[in-house]
Amino acid sequence: MVCVTINGDKFEIYPPFFDCVRCGKKTLGVLHVGVRGYIRACCECPLFNAKGGEIPPVINLPALHKKVIYLDQHVISGMAKALRPELQRSKMEQHVQEAWIQLYHILDRLRRLQLIVCPFSMHHRRESFMDDRLYKYLNTLYKRLANGVEFFDALRIQSIQVMQYTRHHLDPSLPAFIDNPQTVVLGTINSWERYSLKAGMQDYEWKPEGAKLMREQNEAANKNFQTIYDRWKQGGMSIEDRIEEESKGFSTMVRKIYALLLVKSASEQFGLPIDPRMARQVEEELVDEEHAYIQLVDDAYRLFSDGAMLINPYLLRQTIDFLAGDDVRKNVPCIRIEPLLWAALARQAAATKGRKEAIDPGDFNDISAIGNIMPYCDVMTVDKAWHGRLKENPASNEVKGYRAKIISRSNLQELMGYLDEIERTAPVHLLTKVQEVYGNIEDEDPFIGLEADTLQC
Ligand SMILES: [Zn+2]
Repeated sequence: MVCVTINGDKFEIYPPFFDCVRCGKKTLGVLHVGVRGYIRACCECPLFNAKGGEIPPVINLPALHKKVIYLDQHVISGMAKALRPELQRSKMEQHVQEAWIQLYHILDRLRRLQLIVCPFSMHHRRESFMDDRLYKYLNTLYKRLANGVEFFDALRIQSIQVMQYTRHHLDPSLPAFIDNPQTVVLGTINSWERYSLKAGMQDYEWKPEGAKLMREQNEAANKNFQTIYDRWKQGGMSIEDRIEEESKGFSTMVRKIYALLLVKSASEQFGLPIDPRMARQVEEELVDEEHAYIQLVDDAYRLFSDGAMLINPYLLRQTIDFLAGDDVRKNVPCIRIEPLLWAALARQAAATKGRKEAIDPGDFNDISAIGNIMPYCDVMTVDKAWHGRLKENPASNEVKGYRAKIISRSNLQELMGYLDEIERTAPVHLLTKVQEVYGNIEDEDPFIGLEADTLQC
């Protein structure tokens, strides 16, 4: 990279360098890469003169069709620990270490060839920022592989799916579910990778207070999931009935939260006292993330009422009945998938002698990631246990309905085989363009900059 200063402004110009038609030197590099085009500039010639009306031409780039590869946190940390053995708590076997390093280089190469994106997610955040020693390394890999793309959190994805289904209900010509990942992420999946990533991307910054908050949230979530798990472990109910019961959780919450809101509003409006038990519920449950359900009812009501400003109680009732009804429960992917995953976990717990008492904290994160993110991915990595559970019914039939290839992270060869195929079948004109914009792609150590920064501090 070459830094040039023109009229007091600093610019960075990147290789590859071509011959400049103005000065004849091999100094014409890349000034900027955008979503679907890039701009070149010469290190020696005047850049451009906005006052004089000279605007550098934007060179168009072909449309991209990146594969969305969702790597779970263990894959990211496996690669980080293999690249930096001093991060390993217990020493990796050499062939394991080599496989992780090989995987990293394949992923990074495909990323730079504009063929894949590995989005970041809340599930990564939950699991990664607990370890002070590792987080900087994980953060570096997330940033490098995600190109600024991050999946929305689970509640937002759920709301998007419910609204899609509501639109379909009101106009059956619209799709019931849109599996385009762009509908559920921050950032642009099919954007050419920009050099000015720092500006364009969310920084998955770690702060000590952030880690504390995350720990507290994790504890609360674990407690919640343990309650569900304990319910599942109890015998006396068929797996089908269990799934049925669990999938009603969304309906129950929508009704409950909206009812609490109505109680609260009525009390405030007419100065009526609230029953103390109800008041406690309003206090405890109407705060925090469950507000998302109120927004959801409001958004759906707007569709039902065609945007009418006046609240029609009959229509509001109809909206809530629809959202809390069987139709939504049985047709919205994330609401349908999660209970199947619980069933898979419960079946295994019931089959294990002495029954596992506590849920593995990683399992609830996995359930949420599979339930919410899997339908949008081309590949998703999971642990060996989940790989096995997803191959059996009731989960198996559901998972087959999506394009995602589920790969166990203990089978890195399968993942690498899939990735190799992506490069083998990449269109030649695209690879030529990549070389024109980014130059030759060689293996890079992702942590050099990070460690150099640390040394400077
Ligand atoms: Zn020049």
